[in-house]
Formats: sequence, C-alpha cells, structure tokens
Amino acid sequence: MSILAVGTVAFDSIETPFGSAERVLGGSGSYISLASRYFTDDVRLVGVVGNDFPDEYRQTLLDGGVDLEGLETNEEGKTFFWHGRYHYDMNERDTLETQLNVLEGFEPEIPDSYDDSEIICLGNLDPKVQRDVLRQVDDPEFVIADTMNFWIENTPDSLRKTLQLVDCLVINDSEARELADEPNLVTAADIIRDMGPETLIIKKGEHGALLFTDSQVFSAPAYPLEDIQDPTGAGDAFAGGLAGHLVRAKSFDQESLRRAVVYGSVMASFVVEAFGPNRLLNLDPIDISERAQSFRDLAAIPTLVPVGKQPA
Ligand code: AMP
Repeated sequence: MSILAVGTVAFDSIETPFGSAERVLGGSGSYISLASRYFTDDVRLVGVVGNDFPDEYRQTLLDGGVDLEGLETNEEGKTFFWHGRYHYDMNERDTLETQLNVLEGFEPEIPDSYDDSEIICLGNLDPKVQRDVLRQVDDPEFVIADTMNFWIENTPDSLRKTLQLVDCLVINDSEARELADEPNLVTAADIIRDMGPETLIIKKGEHGALLFTDSQVFSAPAYPLEDIQDPTGAGDAFAGGLAGHLVRAKSFDQESLRRAVVYGSVMASFVVEAFGPNRLLNLDPIDISERAQSFRDLAAIPTLVPVGKQPA
C-alpha cells in the first residue's frame, strides 16, 4: 500500500533554549514522508520548492526512499522559509518569520503514477490546495488531514469544504477548541466530527493524544523524554507514523487506529530528540519497536478491584 504525502518542503531556521539551526530541511511534507517511510517503501511526496533548494536536501529525501516525482521545482522563485523560536515551555512557539515564496499560488499537479495512492496525508496547507489534491486521485482508502489556526481563522468556509472529504483530522487541543468554538474537548470533538471526519485525533503536546471515533475515546500517553532539543515537526511526524501504521495494517478499525496513534506518538517522540529532521534520518526499526513497547508499558493499568472488595 502507498502513502501520498502533501505539504510544505521548507528551509527552517529554529531557535530553542538548547541551540539553534539555520535553513535546515523542514516543512510538513518532509517530516510526514521521512517518518512514514519506516513503515512502507512506497511514500510519494507532493510539494514545491524554489531554485535555491539544494541537491543535498533532495538527496536526504531520496536516501530516505521518498519518491520525489511529485516534488515540483519552480525555477522562478525561492523555497518556503519558516523561522521559529521555542521557549522553556516547548508547547509554545513564536513564528518570527514566514516567507511563502513559491507556495504562493501553488497548484499541485499529481503525477499519473500517484493516482492509485491508497492513504493520502494532507499536511498543513491551504484547504483549497488540499482539495485540489483530492480531486486528482482515484478513490483513496483513507484521507488524513492536518490544519492550523491560520486556516481556521482566515478560510473557515474553505476548511469546512475540505473537512467533508476527510476521514481523519489531526489537530492540537487549542485548534480543536477554536474550530468547534467550544472549550470542552469532548463536546468539541462531537462538533468537529459532525463537520465530516469520522475519526478525530486531538494532540495535547507533552500530554499525549485523544482518539475519537464512533462512541469510543482512546487516550494515548506522551513519552516522558529526558532530552528534548527541538519540537519542530513533531505534529507532522505524528501524522507520518499514524499513516505509516495504517498502511501496513491495511485496516482502519478501532484497534488499528489505536495502534496507529501509538506509532504516531513514537515518531513524534523521536523527532524532538534532535534539531530539524536529523533524528528521522537514521532510526533503527528496532528502536521504533522498542519505544512502541515502552508506550504500552507506560499505559498498562493492572486489573482493577471493585470498591468494597479486598484487593488480593
Ligand atoms: P509542526 O512542528 O509539526 O507543527 O510543523 C513544523 C513545520 O511546519 C516546519 O518545518 C515549517 O516549515 C512548517 N510550517 C510552518 N508554518 C507553516 C505554514 N503556515 N504552512 C505550512 N507549513 C508551515
């Protein structure tokens, strides 16, 4: 089974309390594909870069086994650039600069060879661009989408149209509250699921993630890491791990979705350990399996004894 990832391919300049990095490879499309390729050798990336995008970064994606036929080079312009700064509370970040560059007016053209993609992972982009992608693929099995407060505030009607076409929306808690216009997350989840996505995942940063499906809620813990260097890309690596597990499970039932949330959390927990996408470049599949097992252990609740009975 194949994954088609759509998103930004960027230069990122990042500052955290532990260091900084300048113009490293970034973007939602890069992180989704570099995380999901550990689960399948058929990851296709759709995005756009400018005339300044170095061969070295292209090679990093190719070395990861990512198919770049859908990565357009716009010779007329520069690559998308983002500059962000994190504080000691790594859930908070300031965007110091965003240069859309070639992303402005981007009209994705999906290569014919991508038409049969089975899982579509729509990274954070203009909801109209997300719909343009969906229009060009044959009947995918499962559509995952990310969005952010910028689109919730500036293009609410267009976002609603996209949500009607999405099977699984992945957003963070503040975005869920804003999208639903409702402070309570459980109520907000009902409201958002009524907008289209049957499955909703709400990420709560270092507090884990909630999975809402028909009548069921699942809560995954976050991995208690000792050393967090740079949270950039955690949300996209989560989406990549989620799509990655689903592609190998070939199933979208409750159990598969629960496992997929754990693999999403695992990939997010790795990416934050180093600056930019570095940690995603050389992971050993055994490390992924071991960390997934640690997540299981972390959340294991022993058999409960009813109140009024004596614990054995
Ligand atoms: P995340 O930390 O998972 O939310 O995503 C970080 C990535 O999002 C960075 O690599 C940025 O290049 C990219 N990014 C930042 N702002 C935007 C935006 N407005 N639209 C799309 N991608 C963005």
